Amino acid sequence: MGVSAEKSLEELTMRDRFALEDLVDREALGELSEGFYKLFRVPLRIFSESGLLLADAGETHRLYTYLATLKKSSSAVQEVVAMVKTIDPKLQGDVTYPCVTGAVYRIVGVTYDRRQLGRIILGPFLPHSVHDLPASLLDLDPEIELPKARDLLAEMPRAREETVAEIAQHLVRTLDLILFSGHRALLASSMHLASVQESFKELQEKNEKLQHAVDRLKELDRLKSNFLATVSHELRTPLTSIIGYSEMLVEGMAGDLNLEQRDFVRTIYEKGEQLLRLIKGLLDLSKLESGTMSLSKSYIDAAPLVRDVAQTVTPVARKKGVQIVVQTEPGLPELWADAARLRQVFLNLADNAVKFTPTGGSVTLSAQISSLESGAEDGSGLVLLARRAAIEFRVSDTGIGIPESERERVFDAFYQVDSSSTREQGGTGLGLSIVRRLVDAHGGAVHVEDNRRSGSGSVFVVRLPCRRATVF
Ligand code: ADP
Repeated sequence: MGVSAEKSLEELTMRDRFALEDLVDREALGELSEGFYKLFRVPLRIFSESGLLLADAGETHRLYTYLATLKKSSSAVQEVVAMVKTIDPKLQGDVTYPCVTGAVYRIVGVTYDRRQLGRIILGPFLPHSVHDLPASLLDLDPEIELPKARDLLAEMPRAREETVAEIAQHLVRTLDLILFSGHRALLASSMHLASVQESFKELQEKNEKLQHAVDRLKELDRLKSNFLATVSHELRTPLTSIIGYSEMLVEGMAGDLNLEQRDFVRTIYEKGEQLLRLIKGLLDLSKLESGTMSLSKSYIDAAPLVRDVAQTVTPVARKKGVQIVVQTEPGLPELWADAARLRQVFLNLADNAVKFTPTGGSVTLSAQISSLESGAEDGSGLVLLARRAAIEFRVSDTGIGIPESERERVFDAFYQVDSSSTREQGGTGLGLSIVRRLVDAHGGAVHVEDNRRSGSGSVFVVRLPCRRATVF
């Protein structure tokens, strides 16, 4: 338990914290008082230290009901009752107080753990020594009809003062037991509450720290994206000049170059182009990460897009002795997408496929109708899973393949499968991470699997939602 829990526990156990009404159940107290009244016929009331009436058992005696109808007697009785209420056993000890009728009240303190928590008032009852109405009352109120009042007095409960004192003590001891178990229950629940509060506080603190860390990471991520965007942009301008001038030199626009010079300048040109691709990739990635890439979407046909990509990679593939195959299902629905960005996606995949397929192999680009699971929130926090019509694109090759353990990681930025064949091919390791982000931005999904048909190579599967949203 932490420091604050200990502190609150200390606070909770401080004696003056509990009031009688906190420790006992009022209903139980009422039943207890009724039980005592039924047994001894002496009315009793229990008050808390603050004067709150917690239990009231017994009826107003008929003598008192009668006296209440007479002005003088009534005010004399009321005066006694008011006095009885002010008696504090803490100061005066247990007290027997006489009433104008000759009956008496017994006032007893309720203490717990050496602290007075309230009072019990027993009475009025007639002590054994009293047999008639006191002369003082008759003098005070001549309106009293003596025979009637005497009859009513005779009906009043009679008890020896010592007996009532014993009853009171018995009641106090019973109450003490009730108070003890009440105290224990209250302490237990307070301790429980304190420890729950403590755990809640700890959880809140951890939450705050976590939120802080998330905010910090977000800020760092934003800074990184900004940095990438700025640096890439600044690198691009001088690089364009390097590429432009080296291209002019290779083409002999600044005079003839000997073979070696031309070779050197061509290398500058090629490396410049390579660098430019990397920078463009970085720019794209930083825009996608920061969400600042704007997509200009329109309705597009999938089949021409696939054919166009196939045509673009064909020269390189032919040079390498790799066959390009296109298979598109007729009647494919339209896509709502950014045509240039989708072209970039499939060109990346097709480039990779050709790159990682040895001579004699083949690369197949296909498109067919399929479906895509998508989650949509219904406003109440419930996520409804829906299946939407989609087009499934597959870029399959018969090349070196990707080991199962690497199939998720290849989509990480700068990640390249660590094999000599990958290293030989060069590359930036950015292509697939851009592919995944662009596919995500179109509400689609991409993954890689084995090329089971050919027995070797990999298949990149891209699913993109169609214009028609179909919920199954
Ligand atoms: P790059 O091709 O520039 O290295 P990518 O992000 O496009 O970067 O690809 C990451 C890595 O995934 C590649 O370096 C390669 O190891 C692996 N890879 C991608 N496509 C294929 C493929 N068709 N066959 C085998 N490995 C692949």
